[in-house]
Amino acid sequence: MIMTSSLSFQPVLERIAEEIEHTPGRGRPADYIPALAARDPRSFGMAVAELDGTVYGVGEWREPFSAQSVTKVFTLALDLAREGDELWEHVGREPSGNPFNSLVQLEYESGIPRNPFINAGALVVTDRLQTRTGDAAGTLLEFLRDESGNPEVDFDAEVAASEAAHGDRNAALAHFMASYGNIDNAVPLLLDQYFRQCSIRASCADLALATAFLARHGVRADGSRLLSRSQAKQVNAVMLTCGTYDAAGDFAYRVGLPGKSGVGGGIVAVVPGRCTLCVWSPGLDDRGNSVAGVAALDRFTTLTGLSVF
Ligand code: GLN
Repeated sequence: MIMTSSLSFQPVLERIAEEIEHTPGRGRPADYIPALAARDPRSFGMAVAELDGTVYGVGEWREPFSAQSVTKVFTLALDLAREGDELWEHVGREPSGNPFNSLVQLEYESGIPRNPFINAGALVVTDRLQTRTGDAAGTLLEFLRDESGNPEVDFDAEVAASEAAHGDRNAALAHFMASYGNIDNAVPLLLDQYFRQCSIRASCADLALATAFLARHGVRADGSRLLSRSQAKQVNAVMLTCGTYDAAGDFAYRVGLPGKSGVGGGIVAVVPGRCTLCVWSPGLDDRGNSVAGVAALDRFTTLTGLSVF
């Protein structure tokens, strides 16, 4: 089934949900953040947002979940919009080939993280956004509410506290980078901002809509421009090569779209010029990506022919 622009996405979403329903292995919810461990791995939702804001959905597509690292797309865009290319002196844009929370490359590479989507790189981006705005997490929340049109998108204090209580690895990353002079703010302040950022609760519909500026080549829902066309291309490219960590090659192979995952089980993906997707299912594989989420996106691009390749 190849989609043409006049077709609704609804039948394809329903077919995917039906197929996923009969898929046995669903992975395991993240348990290193205890507040996320109780989610049911059989939960599943998926939404597609068209450029005009029309949203199609299936399953639990209106159910809020913990966005986690999906938020790293938005902080990257918000910071890039403010500081431009100077950001790339502080964080790279190469795949790391290592897990999202790895420390190993940082010492060899003098405290400059490989890319903005591994935890070390996201901490640098949040730190820089904090310096520029005075409230990185608040700036992010306002953006997500504006783009989704949903004022109920919010921080989850329980998840943020749970992650803070088990945040030794992120604290180690932040302190280590600070020792190289690559963090501006006090580490405890940065970690508070970062954990609140990751805790944001939003639904598939909210996150598909919030990602749509990347399908609109940098233009926000209200018609204003956040990123230049070239910057939107750059963010999409970094999502394709780094958005699912050490599984980015496999994700590109299976899905063929820029995508960004989070350990809450969400994944956003972009079909430039056409639509955005968000899928959620809390069971993760051993790289921290949603098992049913990747499978559903794989089916979407296979059934519709909508990929960047
Ligand atoms: N908040 C999580 C962490 O820092 C985000 C990781 C993720 O979603 N991959 O570990």
